[in-house]
Parts: sequence; structure tokens; C-alpha cells
Amino acid sequence: MNNNTPHIAPYRGRFAPSPTGPLHFGSLVAAVGSYLDAKYHHGQWLVRIEDIDTPRTVSGTADAILRTLDALGMEWDESVVYQSRRTDIYQEALHELIRQGLLYPCTCSRKEIADSSIVGINGPIYPGTCRHNPLAQEKPYALRILTNDETIEFQDRVTGSYSQQLVRDIGDFVLRRADGVYAYQLAVVADDADQRITHIVRGADLLDSTPRQIYLQRLLGYPRLRYMHLPVATNAAGEKLSKQTHAAPIDLDKALPQLVETLRFLGQKPPDEILESDIAAFWSWAIRNWRADLISH
Ligand code: GLU
Ligand code: ZN
Repeated sequence: MNNNTPHIAPYRGRFAPSPTGPLHFGSLVAAVGSYLDAKYHHGQWLVRIEDIDTPRTVSGTADAILRTLDALGMEWDESVVYQSRRTDIYQEALHELIRQGLLYPCTCSRKEIADSSIVGINGPIYPGTCRHNPLAQEKPYALRILTNDETIEFQDRVTGSYSQQLVRDIGDFVLRRADGVYAYQLAVVADDADQRITHIVRGADLLDSTPRQIYLQRLLGYPRLRYMHLPVATNAAGEKLSKQTHAAPIDLDKALPQLVETLRFLGQKPPDEILESDIAAFWSWAIRNWRADLISH
């Protein structure tokens, strides 16, 4: 390679399920979309179990998710990473933001926040009540990060341009909860950087989290990522498929039809005969013919 050859980072993608229940159609969409996009680009596909919120984690579900992915023929590169074992990484990122003077302790109760806030796209917009609290506090406290009125914009590969002004649309957000748990927004950013992820493919329910994550990446000096947010699968009542809405777990006796249904949900056009083939033939077709531009939004 000579000096004029630009260095193009190899594609590294990931699937990052929270182990709160078995894999269902909604989470399979994110798994399949991230897998196919990585494999189409000759990239690596990692699996990270987002079990940092231990009170919400249901024991045994992480293993069940991994067994299902394996049975569906989805091979991950590198060992599976568990957020619950990586708190040192999150602590380091948090300390860097403290050094930058951007964090403050918030002792407000949920009720105080609800009573004093207007509701934004992602819950109450914290009005900044505790902004001038000194860092030392006696009561248990959450740590919030100061936001500002800069516009954070990015081009999503499916949904196009998306932007937010964090202070107006979200408010100062929590990075470590009063119970000591690191927030998803911090953990995901620290992990994606540590694992040298280049491309994020996940459900559109996380679109409105992305500007918060870009904000943290910039402050921490982490590389920029490419984003693709997939349509969210809903049930007949229009609710997002999730454990709360009692989404049915993936049935491995119907592995191939469910994979085909997932592929069609992602706008791909596999031939009907694919249903008479096997899982290996399914993946071979799906990887070769992957077209992200067919995903609807
Ligand atoms: N763990 C998150 C979820 O299951 C996904 C995080 C992400 O892909 O950034 O909703
Ligand atoms: Zn507060």
C-alpha cells in the first residue's frame, strides 16, 4: 500500500440484544438485517449481550438467544461480549466526561421531573433543575450530562436525514442512574468504540437515541459510525413487538419460513422456491442478493 491509498476501515457490525426475553420476530429483524448487511460487505458481525440493566435481565435468556441465532445458521465472529462484565469501560468514559466538566448530579425524583417537565419525543424533557448542584451529594443521585442547542444531524441509510437539538428535544440525559447502573446511551457508545464497530443496523425505535449517541461519541473522541434504522415490526394492534406485548418466540421448527418472512419484511424479494431449500441455501441467496435500498421506511 502506498501513501496515497486511503485506509478504508473494514466493515464491523453487531447485533446487541437485551436479554429480557427470547428472540421474537421483531428482534430477528434487527439480527438478520445487521447480519446480511455485514456479510454483504464482507464484514464481521459481532454479538453483544446488553445485560447491563441487571434488574431487567431474565436469567437464561442470553443463552436462549445465542442458541436460536446458532440454530438459524447465523454465525458470529469473535467471542460474545457481555455488558455486565465491562463496567470498567463505562466508568472510564464517564470519568472522561466528568473531567470535561459536563456531568452533574441530579437528585430529582421521577415525580418531581414529571411535574416540572414538558413531554418530548422520548419522555419528559429534564428542565435542568439540578444543573448547578455541586458534584458531592448526600442523597443517591443520577449523573446527567449537559446538553446544548447545537443541531446534531446525520444521514440514515434507510430513513434519510434526521436531526435534533438535544437541549430542546431531549434535555440533559442520564448517564448513570441513581442505583449505580450505567445508562444504555453511555454503554452502547463505549462498547461500539471499544469493539471498533463501523456500522450500526438496528430498529427504528432507536432512531431518536442516535443524536445522543453521536453527541457522546464526539465528546469522547470516538470515530463516527454509519447508521441504518430498520422498520419496526408491529402486531395487529400496531404495537411494537416486544416482551411487553407478548411477542411469540421464534419457533425453530419453522426456522426457514420465519427467515423468509423476515427477509420479505426487509423488502427483499426471495423467490418462492427458496422455501423448499435449506438454511444454508437461504443464507447464500440472501447474502448475495442483499439490497439495503429495498428496505421500506
Ligand atoms: N439492546 C438494545 C435493544 O435490544 C439495542 C441496542 C442497539 O442496537 O444499539 O433494544
Ligand atoms: Zn435533578
